[in-house]
Amino acid sequence: MRLILGDQLSLIHSWFNTTDPEVLYVMMEIRPETDYVKHHIQKLLGVLGAMRQFADQLRTVGHNLVYLKLTEVDNLQLFGKNINAIILKNNIECFEYQEPDEYRVDQLLKSFCNELNITWKMVPSEHFLTSRYELKDFFGKKNYLMESFYREMRRRFNVLMENGQPIGGQWNFDANNRNRYDGRIPIPKPLKFDNDLTEVFRDMKISGVDSFGNADPSHFTYPINRKQALELVDYFDKNLLPHFGTYQDAMVKNSTSLFHARISFALNTKMISPLEVIRSAVETWQSRPDEIGLEQVEGYVRQILGWREYVRGVYWAKMPDYAKMNYFDHKNKLPEFYWTGDTRMNCLKHAIRQSLDKAYAHHIQRLMITGNFALLAQVHPDEVDAWYLGIYIDAFEWVELTNTRGMSQYADGGIMASKPYVSSANYINNMSDYCRSCFYDAKKRIGANACPFNSLYWNFFDRHQDKLRKNPRIGMAYRNLDKMNPEEKAALLEQAEKYLDTMNEL
Ligand code: FAD
Ligand code: SF4
Repeated sequence: MRLILGDQLSLIHSWFNTTDPEVLYVMMEIRPETDYVKHHIQKLLGVLGAMRQFADQLRTVGHNLVYLKLTEVDNLQLFGKNINAIILKNNIECFEYQEPDEYRVDQLLKSFCNELNITWKMVPSEHFLTSRYELKDFFGKKNYLMESFYREMRRRFNVLMENGQPIGGQWNFDANNRNRYDGRIPIPKPLKFDNDLTEVFRDMKISGVDSFGNADPSHFTYPINRKQALELVDYFDKNLLPHFGTYQDAMVKNSTSLFHARISFALNTKMISPLEVIRSAVETWQSRPDEIGLEQVEGYVRQILGWREYVRGVYWAKMPDYAKMNYFDHKNKLPEFYWTGDTRMNCLKHAIRQSLDKAYAHHIQRLMITGNFALLAQVHPDEVDAWYLGIYIDAFEWVELTNTRGMSQYADGGIMASKPYVSSANYINNMSDYCRSCFYDAKKRIGANACPFNSLYWNFFDRHQDKLRKNPRIGMAYRNLDKMNPEEKAALLEQAEKYLDTMNEL
């Protein structure tokens, strides 16, 4: 008997190379997995819809499969109970499962297996390019510097390399990835699919699964099978890659994803593999050298070969303690508008409403709008984590937790980021068109309509001097704070206090 988890939908796993009548595959939709956090409805629809498609595909090529839907009477709604029942009913002699990516599920299945009285085995998921603890071994006691890990990965997988050196003589073109979008290059429409998931929706309703956010279950737009996922990859390579790097950090009101790939859901459920995505982009770049600059493809490769593998490595190196870290001892609740988008702050309104509508926001919206504000508002990292884990279609703990608690909230005290990612309105104004039509004034720090990001930004540095002043990467912020005239500083901190006290009214 082989168990397939909801984020293990890889048709290219070696399990499926041959069909064997002696092997029984098992998939199940169970309540602890739909309910461990309150999820966006599109995330639930996407995972359950893709699981059902995967099951159909396995059956079509002749594999034996038991699939327990949410509503099935035989479904005992727990991994252990369901597996035990199937073992008994089918006289199973050996139980196998693929390495889970989430610590929670890993622990659960390990302790279940330790009680089993038949043989069992955990096998690799064959998805990632590094093993769970490789990053931990790679760095040992040294700082977890993404850049050195990324270079090692480039060498190892021979990606964008020539005679042992990076093509173009440079490893990283990050400096070319920070352009504001000026409207000159038209943004291609995102590729959307038209999947009918009304049956999944109905089963969720019958079972009483709670969710939030908006969806049209009869026209679900994310890919739910490998064929669609590969089409999305191809669409990105042909249409979006040529400008991906340039506008990677840009934000605009009238586009959700600009030149981003929207492939994270397909990747994280393993419908496609990271290496095939990387190879496909590099091949496209090689075939169109006049149209696609090296900095575009390098920026993309860095996200998948670098960041994605890196955050997973940090997760396994630091769990379970990582999930409890709260370096700044922040205690506030998440403002209510994170659940509605009802705020006069235009940047947050757009990033949140779009997340509620599409279960998607691109990296800079997550980092520099919603994440930045939560950190400045001193929100408890547990609250921030629960929000990110629930709202995004691609959110699975190994990638969500590290990005949120580490990268965005600096709750790990600097394991992942060399300084906290906070900014005043200045950065948001430079990188987006949000501020132009905002109720608040991006240039104002004090007084009516002063942008909350400004006073909260200085308040953050003032409040956390003991933890941050010695950090050489933020010396400039403290030099500016020290130079500030005392009355101005007092007014700024007072303004911040006022905003912190009336957070839900902003
Ligand atoms: P693109 O910008 O087109 O990038 C291509 C791919 O690169 C992505 O699909 C993703 O697989 C990978 N990638 C890019 N950045 C990262 C990163 N920082 N970490 C890991 N992989 C990366 N990503 C998730 O997959 N799940 C999450 O739950 C998640 N939570 C995040 C929370 C915060 C606070 C932040 C700042 C980032 C988070 N990310 C998460 C990373 C990133 O925002 C998303 O991977 C990306 O927005 C997905 O959209 P895309 O496919 O269009 O990405
Ligand atoms: Fe956001 Fe401030 Fe700009 Fe308004 S002015 S969009 S609140 S950064």
